[in-house]
Amino acid sequence: MRNKVRKQKFHIIGSGIAGLACAKFIRQKHKSAEIVVYEAAARPGGRCYSYYDKVLDHQLDSGTHVSLGVNKSINRLIDKKKFIYRISFYDSIRGKIARSISRFKSHLLVSIFNTPGHEVARSLIKTVFWKLFPFTMFQKKIYYSHNDLSQRLIIPLLNYVSQIKYGWKLLKVEDKGGHVTRLIFNNNRSVEIGARDVVISALDAHNYCKIFGGEDFDYEDIINIHYRTSVKLTLPENKKMLGISNGMAHWIFINKDIVSATISAAGNLHIDKDELAREVWKEICHIRGVAAAFIPPYRVLRHRKVTLKMDWANNNKRPESATTKFDNLFIAGDWTYKDFPCCMEGAVLSAKRAAKLCTKKF
Ligand SMILES: Cc1cc2nc3c(=O)[nH]c(=O)nc-3n(C[C@H](O)[C@H](O)[C@H](O)COP(=O)(O)OP(=O)(O)OC[C@H]3O[C@@H](n4cnc5c(N)ncnc54)[C@H](O)[C@@H]3O)c2cc1C
Repeated sequence: MRNKVRKQKFHIIGSGIAGLACAKFIRQKHKSAEIVVYEAAARPGGRCYSYYDKVLDHQLDSGTHVSLGVNKSINRLIDKKKFIYRISFYDSIRGKIARSISRFKSHLLVSIFNTPGHEVARSLIKTVFWKLFPFTMFQKKIYYSHNDLSQRLIIPLLNYVSQIKYGWKLLKVEDKGGHVTRLIFNNNRSVEIGARDVVISALDAHNYCKIFGGEDFDYEDIINIHYRTSVKLTLPENKKMLGISNGMAHWIFINKDIVSATISAAGNLHIDKDELAREVWKEICHIRGVAAAFIPPYRVLRHRKVTLKMDWANNNKRPESATTKFDNLFIAGDWTYKDFPCCMEGAVLSAKRAAKLCTKKF
């Protein structure tokens, strides 16, 4: 009797947008491939997710994620129907909405790189300038999930995965002659890797360095504050989203009875959560031209170490490609896509690159 040929398997570590997009790109090449995703957490999405918040009794996007219209790769994956806005800035000094957004490039830089503008690597600014040009000049289109990020982006991607194993935390790998032969997980579990099998690490930078070695990076924080109002609020000119110049918050979003504020590059902002919520609420009321008589229920989410600090030293430490010292291990993840901001678009681009390489080679 002939031996049954073992089916080639793709093992993806991490179910963030990079890991799941990678599954999609592999599936497009190999319709019947077995694609298994191992995820340490109990849910998919990594840093990209929405959740039901008990305090506000509402669905929230943990990070109020937005994607610029020029980000073609991520935008192709988003269910865009209700997603779209045009970007505008509120000029706090003049007390009105600015007609042009080109004056707010430094504000856009902090938001795009999650790093104080003066610290961003020049090479990165150059790359992004050309990409942003059509955006700042003409298009100004932005996609925002309306607090439904998991449903609109993450859950549909699970269709490309054969199996996803939650609570499986990779601890280390074993190899033979530069070929990964076994994945070792928590709870004494391990998975054998066949000669034709491929492993893709779609881990975040910190966990990748812990498992595979290498010097760790410096990171930046983001703070989101969500307020639940008793009535629907409006912003000037009925805008649903505003960039704020010279404010504490960089962006404000209105989504029915939820008002959300985002503060980027917040690593050095050491203010008590309640005080921060009060100050930002005052800013929102000021923009709306009303008195901040009382503050509605709120939730302050401080996301620590969420993206690499995009200065020269950190950008320089990023890998040059998706290949590694192991012939069957490839890497994806926002941080692996050098000379590009750590964002959803970078994560998808890195996934496309890793999928292309590993399907070509194996
Ligand atoms: C608050 C906040 C706001 C943001 N705003 C924006 C925005 O407006 N626009 C934008 O484009 N981007 C934004 N980002 C960045 C964006 O979320 C990330 O760039 C993107 O989600 C990165 O995806 P990833 O798949 O590379 O990494 P991750 O999402 O970090 O995925 C890594 C996955 O690996 C898993 N994992 C870790 N260790 C292990 C292990 N040992 N074993 C198994 N699994 C493991 C993790 O649980 C996680 O699911 C924001 C991020 C945050 C946190």
